[in-house]
Amino acid sequence: MLNIILFGPPGAGKGTQSAKLIEKYNLTHLSTGDVFRFNIKNETDLGVLAKSFIDKGELVPDEVTNDMVADFLDQNFNDNGFIFDGYPRTIQQADALAKMLDDKNTTISLMVALEVEEDELVKRLLERGKTSGRADDQSEDTIRNRFRVYQEETAPLAMHYSDLGKYRGVHGMGSVDEIFVRLSHCLDIVSETGE
Ligand code: AMP
Repeated sequence: MLNIILFGPPGAGKGTQSAKLIEKYNLTHLSTGDVFRFNIKNETDLGVLAKSFIDKGELVPDEVTNDMVADFLDQNFNDNGFIFDGYPRTIQQADALAKMLDDKNTTISLMVALEVEEDELVKRLLERGKTSGRADDQSEDTIRNRFRVYQEETAPLAMHYSDLGKYRGVHGMGSVDEIFVRLSHCLDIVSETGE
């Protein structure tokens, strides 16, 4: 199985690249942000709870997020593997994911991180906000808060997977296709060596 964490700050291009990678490698895409937005749209209890955090640029609590991911994995298991997009975002989530995968006799193959400068990210997010309808892309204050949360809670995950020998950084500037080639190269290596 190829279980890839596509990592990077808000606006790095994780969603765009995930869509291309799942097609090329026959993987299942799990974007926790997308699942939350689906629940918000359908006004479920989970959606109402998640919205109160998302609109402020805060993280949804770990336990809520981990339970949602466990349900998703049970219902959408794919023997080829998964692209995890926007998850895990805390060390606690990384530990929970390791257990969930272990229960299914599999593990994380690799974290690939899209590296993009912050000014470029803010520009991309404000631009996306004009068409995405996402409340959390509309204000620069909320966007800056998401970066702060990212730096404090999520960025340490790079070291966590690096210590496990499962981290690759990828230059995230350039065209969608150029970045896709770089990511594919990382996935090809890990799928060939089974690392
Ligand atoms: P994203 O679409 O990945 O940018 O996520 C949008 C928002 O959903 C984030 O700013 C968080 O509020 C929430 N969210 C998404 N994934 C997670 C996660 N793994 N843990 C906690 N909150 C999350």
